[in-house]
Amino acid sequence: MTLVDARNRPLRDLRISVTDRCNFRCTYCMPREHFGPQHSFLPRDELLTYEEMTFVTASLLPLGLEKIRLTGGEPLLRKNITTLIGQLRELDPTLDIALTTNGALLFQHAASLKKAGLNRVTVSIDALDEGTFQSLADTTSHTPELILKGIEKAIEVGLGVKVNTVVKKGVNDEEILPLAEKFESIGVPLRFIEFMDVGNTNAWQMEDVMSGANIRELLAQRFGTLTPVQGQQASEVAKRYSTSEGYEFGFIESVTSPFCGDCTRARLSANGQIYTCLFATKGHDIKSILRMGGSTQEIGNAIASIWTTRNDRYSEERGAQRRSDTKVEMSFIGG
Ligand code: SAM
Ligand code: SF4
Ligand code: SF4
Repeated sequence: MTLVDARNRPLRDLRISVTDRCNFRCTYCMPREHFGPQHSFLPRDELLTYEEMTFVTASLLPLGLEKIRLTGGEPLLRKNITTLIGQLRELDPTLDIALTTNGALLFQHAASLKKAGLNRVTVSIDALDEGTFQSLADTTSHTPELILKGIEKAIEVGLGVKVNTVVKKGVNDEEILPLAEKFESIGVPLRFIEFMDVGNTNAWQMEDVMSGANIRELLAQRFGTLTPVQGQQASEVAKRYSTSEGYEFGFIESVTSPFCGDCTRARLSANGQIYTCLFATKGHDIKSILRMGGSTQEIGNAIASIWTTRNDRYSEERGAQRRSDTKVEMSFIGG
């Protein structure tokens, strides 16, 4: 059975936030003044167990689920994450399992992630210049070299690898070309993400957004004309453009070119709530049903009834919105 929402969008992808904690404090995601020592992260008993995450996934497979993305917070901080990957892989050998990471712990985990059954990693890196990198991630204990080592290791062990870069105007736009040259030279797809107004703490303003179109203009000066790639799947979040040499850049233009019409993603927060949009103000409690002993059929029915009434299209309505102060934080539900 294929489940569709009020806008006829199927539920194909589930993003699971395995932890709300992170070893970085990226200024656009977890600014230290809001996520400092006073911030209360989720207590252990509120976190879904790996068995519970696997149970939710199992309940969605008959409804058309095809992809899982493990995220957070920083997913590689959660202990024994390979156990979860192994359990998910056991459910279905064809399930596409990906993980988004800041890459700080990737070098040491890449081989075991692959062995457990992970298909792909997306690694976030916003600068090659150490000073810019450390000021954006608000860390002094990690370097771009460490992330690059993780990327190389992931390729070496056979994981699919893509790279994500969030661009903030006047902050890391000078890093666009160095990053593009680096990843083009090693043939790893690089996707530029427009700085988004997720959560309530990152002081987002439109003036700080560098549009995908502006980034393409800059890239064209170095790589020549970029041609849109034909035949992209509707549910792909990134628009792909190719150089004449066949290397593809991706652009995730949630602000200037929203893609809500094709949004097939549900999100499961680390404390077991389903969110139907990245910009949602509230989730739907699934943990209680799990902990009352609900069957996969009951969990599936609960999520199906949430999904069928889903009408979200925040990015398409952004201009018309009154600013809400209660949006959920990205580190909590996962990017
Ligand atoms: N910690 C992991 C990481 O950084 O890759 C996974 C979680 S992070 C929330 C997922 C993705 O969201 C990252 O690629 C990050 O750059 C992106 N992100 C976070 N805040 C953002 C924002 N305000 N605008 C655009 N992208 C954002
Ligand atoms: Fe952590 Fe990822 Fe958010 Fe940066 S973007 S603070 S690495 S969760
Ligand atoms: Fe999907 Fe919400 Fe993003 Fe639109 S704004 S693409 S509905 S997550």
